[in-house]
Amino acid sequence: MDKKAGKKIFNGIAIGKIKFYSKKENQVSRVKVEDTDAEIARYEAAKDEAVKQLERLYEKALVEVGETNAEIFNVHIMMLDDDDFNESVLNIISVQKVNAEYALAATGDNFAEMFANMEDEYFKARSADIRDITERVLSILCGNSESTDIGEEPVIIAAEDLAPSETVQMDKNKLLAFVTRLGSSNSHTAILARTMGIPALAGVGIDPSWDGKIGIVDGYEGICIVEPTMPVLEEYFKKKAADDEQKKLLQTLKGKENITKSGQKIHLYANIGNPGDLMAVMENDAGGIGLFRSEFLYLESETYPTEEEQFQAYKKVVETMGGKKVIIRTLDIGADKQADYFGFEKEENPVLGYRAIRICLTRPEVFRTQLRALFRASAYGNLAIMYPMIISVDEVRRIKEISKEVRSELAAEGVQIGEVEEGIMIETPAAAVMSDELAKLVDFFSIGTNDLTQYTLAIDRQNAKLDEFYDAHHPAVLRLIETVIKNAHEAGIWAGICGELGADTTLTKTFLKMGIDELSVSPGCILPVRKVIRETE
Ligand code: PEP
Ligand code: MG
Repeated sequence: MDKKAGKKIFNGIAIGKIKFYSKKENQVSRVKVEDTDAEIARYEAAKDEAVKQLERLYEKALVEVGETNAEIFNVHIMMLDDDDFNESVLNIISVQKVNAEYALAATGDNFAEMFANMEDEYFKARSADIRDITERVLSILCGNSESTDIGEEPVIIAAEDLAPSETVQMDKNKLLAFVTRLGSSNSHTAILARTMGIPALAGVGIDPSWDGKIGIVDGYEGICIVEPTMPVLEEYFKKKAADDEQKKLLQTLKGKENITKSGQKIHLYANIGNPGDLMAVMENDAGGIGLFRSEFLYLESETYPTEEEQFQAYKKVVETMGGKKVIIRTLDIGADKQADYFGFEKEENPVLGYRAIRICLTRPEVFRTQLRALFRASAYGNLAIMYPMIISVDEVRRIKEISKEVRSELAAEGVQIGEVEEGIMIETPAAAVMSDELAKLVDFFSIGTNDLTQYTLAIDRQNAKLDEFYDAHHPAVLRLIETVIKNAHEAGIWAGICGELGADTTLTKTFLKMGIDELSVSPGCILPVRKVIRETE
């Protein structure tokens, strides 16, 4: 058994035979010619033929993957018509007195490299399109027909790279998954894989010896397994059956309201850990983001992320979500989430120690930098801020003071700020008990049941040995949740749950009865929860 990790392009699980796909290389040599006009005419004719092929591909893509995705072939047609590109080919032919194949290959290489060196990720990804159009015209000039026939049985395609035209030409009914060594999540091939709903991974250390072997592609975990053992295969058959079931749900529940039979409506949002999860948020039809754990920015970095780096990340998320609400939680580091550069001292009881808001309030420069980035990003969408690990009214007052100062500072600099709701997480018993007082100071509550359960039951959430004592449905936790919702409503604010308990469908009815306003769950849990809400009286 061989197991390789890769970048997740599209989720889903595929099990089947691997086909190693390698494109026919166009071998180009530099040949001196006398009649340069004839070479130019050959180039023009090949280009015309390429345009006809692209027009046919556009029609095929229009039917299979829709207008937006088919548009890439129109872009290729435009690229083939690009004056700079064509001038370069014609110049090489006439100045160097060489064959059209060589002139085209040299131009393609130069332009592709130029795009690959650009800063902007979008333009970088266009380098693959330049190679694609160059290869198309070269194939015509060299007399090589394009063959993307992948055979009769459904297969997982493993390839160095795939051009959009190759992807769309493959018979969709026989494609189980794509696994490539190259390719980025911005490439059109990646976009097409998503639109076609095919599990896909990039950046995988593929090997030609995989050809014909049985493979598993797990687009959720970002792994590819070759020649799995029997127990692994059995495990994946089960996962795939569950995944198929989930996908069926997805089809029927997408676009539907989160409404009970008697008309009670709630918001169903998604929890995310980094902007890479946005795809799953869209696919699962979340109404917004109820918890964006901002610590990824700090944990993935070697030093404190700058205001600008944070601003760009938050802006990307709020912009991508359009007008939908995005609740970003301020830094919740410490305990199990460590970053060396913070220089934390070793603690006897880290879970009860220096973490989350306690760090922000004692290191105001870290907190202010994050708040500045958040308020700046608020001008680009519907952003809300949420503070973790609160235990007292005093903490909230201090937070509000800092937040006010940061907003005034930005206003004085002429920076635009949107309307920002500010809420707190209720994840300590102290906050739950004090929720009547706390509710008067904030715009919303989001109940973090993971920590609330750990602190209420005095059970370390990381300690598997305590499983037999751990009761996620403990009445003490449920009573606290009920109290928090009641106190929120009495003060005229809304209350949601963003801990894992929010996705527990055996409790959905209970939460609805308590009057919960919002549930924020992992993207994959949105539709199962929506199903239960819609089935509730
Ligand atoms: C929680 O404690 O329930 C929560 C959502 O926060 P985290 O899991 O990130 O601690
Ligand atoms: Mg927590």
